[in-house]
Amino acid sequence: MPRPIQATLDSNALRHNLAQIKASTPDALVWAVVKANAYGHGIERVFDALRSADGFALLDLAEAERVRQLGWRGPILLLEGAFETRDLEMCSRLNLWHVVHSEAQIDMLAVHKTHQPHRVFLKMNTGMNRLGFAPQAFRAAWTRLNALPQVDEISLMSHFSDADGDKGIGAAMTLFHQFTHDLSGERSLCNSAACLRHAKALAVRADWVRPGIALYGSSPDFPQHSAQDWGLKPVMSLNADIVAVQHLQAGDTVGYGSSFVADRAMRIGVVSCGYADGYPRIAPTGTPVCVDGHPSRTVGRVSMDMITVDITDLPHANVGSEVTLWGMPQKSKVSAQSPYGVAIDEVAQAAGTVGYELMCALAARVPVVVKD
Ligand SMILES: *Cc1c(COP(=O)(O)O)cnc(C)c1O
Repeated sequence: MPRPIQATLDSNALRHNLAQIKASTPDALVWAVVKANAYGHGIERVFDALRSADGFALLDLAEAERVRQLGWRGPILLLEGAFETRDLEMCSRLNLWHVVHSEAQIDMLAVHKTHQPHRVFLKMNTGMNRLGFAPQAFRAAWTRLNALPQVDEISLMSHFSDADGDKGIGAAMTLFHQFTHDLSGERSLCNSAACLRHAKALAVRADWVRPGIALYGSSPDFPQHSAQDWGLKPVMSLNADIVAVQHLQAGDTVGYGSSFVADRAMRIGVVSCGYADGYPRIAPTGTPVCVDGHPSRTVGRVSMDMITVDITDLPHANVGSEVTLWGMPQKSKVSAQSPYGVAIDEVAQAAGTVGYELMCALAARVPVVVKD
């Protein structure tokens, strides 16, 4: 028997989340962001459910090639553009649109030989300070690009540093508007947080939005809003079985380092999921799980192949019980106390990280089933 652990991807949840995003920005075209192998879900596994997006955005040429191999003839955007001149040959061959964020990338384009000019997204740095031209340098970059025979239409983009937080997007949007208002071209600004939190109050056009995390059903601004608050459904569920049960007396300990000490008699379920499956090792005692759909918590340290959960108050739980690490139970019914299963955002919060990181870290050894 294969090890009893499984990730399940819910295609209907993906479709639903894409529709939610579209409803939040009804006039915009949608780039479905599928970088990092679709945030750990697998590009091939999500492609069908995301087909009604207007394009796919990613940053790896090999991933762009995979999207073309799936039969996608529509737009594909390389979010970081070319890393070296050779990459532009792939862009020409696969008809990829690409970001231009630096003078070096304009230099590469200027010497690139292509029959078909490229669609480019010129990126402004509005405060993130990772990629993009300074607002004051933006027009010169646009003018330089616009003069190149290798360049077709130029779209204008930026990426917000604070769409999910208190600072918001006001200052970034003002900068963007100030330095682009008289330039022609489509605009692309919004990630998931901006789509959900700010789309209604956007001072500049949103021709293309770029949602990622919301498609996969995690909240971009947890804990301020949960996925349910935004009407998003979890796409990835991680479930594993209890493979052994331990009975503890007060004073007994659990796991490496004896970090958990029982203060009473307890029943402990040993679950076939560990950090080698992508469950965060740093998740402390008390991280939420469901056992046969009922809420419980982890106890003791996460080890490579196992975690331990408290089943003292769940007398029916036993070897073979289904433990939901995040997402929805698959074999058991959800209980009234946890109708939404285990929010990946809550597990991430307990581990001091975000849902993005947990999804991306799902290990290759975990079998994945796609539910239609
Ligand atoms: C990853 C990324 C996005 C998507 O961000 P989410 O927070 O997942 O919605 C959008 N734009 C750019 C440039 C990105 O790199």
